[in-house]
Amino acid sequence: MQSDTVTRCAPSPTGYLHAGHAYAAGIAWLRARQAHGRFLLRIEDIDTTRCRPELTDAIFEDLAWLGLSWEQPVRRQSQHFAEYAAALDSLRQRDLLYPCFCTRKQIQAEINAAGQAPHGFEGAVYPGTCRHLSGAEREARMAGGEAYALRLDMAAACQQAGRWPLHWHDETAGAQSVTPDLLIQGFGDVVLARKEIPASYHLCVSHDDVLQGITLVTRGSDLFAATHLHRLLQALFGWPVPDYAHHPLLLDDSGERLAKRKNAPTLRDQRAAGVTPAALWQQVGLDPASFGG
Ligand code: GLU
Repeated sequence: MQSDTVTRCAPSPTGYLHAGHAYAAGIAWLRARQAHGRFLLRIEDIDTTRCRPELTDAIFEDLAWLGLSWEQPVRRQSQHFAEYAAALDSLRQRDLLYPCFCTRKQIQAEINAAGQAPHGFEGAVYPGTCRHLSGAEREARMAGGEAYALRLDMAAACQQAGRWPLHWHDETAGAQSVTPDLLIQGFGDVVLARKEIPASYHLCVSHDDVLQGITLVTRGSDLFAATHLHRLLQALFGWPVPDYAHHPLLLDDSGERLAKRKNAPTLRDQRAAGVTPAALWQQVGLDPASFGG
């Protein structure tokens, strides 16, 4: 009998998959399988400056080679910008977004001038410069064609999010509490949209996990802190909260995490070199028998 468990694998087609992706996909697939639930694949290709369609095809090919199967149709985020725009619009109507005209350079200069760089989960926290612009100045600069990003006014969002603390659960780390302080210091006014990428990862992933009825989000521990922010978005939109299972990242021989940009061997390289799916599963520490290999 089918259970309610729905898991997903959500790769971004910015490069070819490597063993770390196989591991992440394998875990999501296994968790659905063990629970007699459903496994979905979602292509997170909102960053059209970096994602390439042929890399999406390669994802399908590589995961199928590993023996994984998934439901159709596959959601491709790049086909759903209107939905993310509608979510952004509802935040804008609640006065939770403001346009930020700062360039990276200006932000860095401002941080340097302040003499200290409060470090958040994703690097230096934005000092809030454009939060203080008047409505008239915002209008004038936007009308003048200046490029801008949309930032979440974190303090205002925290005020509107309801009762604190917010909670979410990680299978390994246990119960997590999210407070306004953690969000304000850890993220500050995060960017939810920018000119070249009209919807951010954080918005799209939270939106889609709800839309697709994901009950268990499995993903790498590098995204653990991001879940605090996703929990805030869920509270703002009144979305249900899935369970989370953040897993360790695979490391290479020198103890560094596998990464596309560090030229980790791709699955297709390994396949071309004669590695079998069973050997690949073994390499990442998952039992090949679970995948029919
Ligand atoms: N698209 C993200 C990535 O490739 C993963 C998103 C997630 O699992 O939440 O890193």
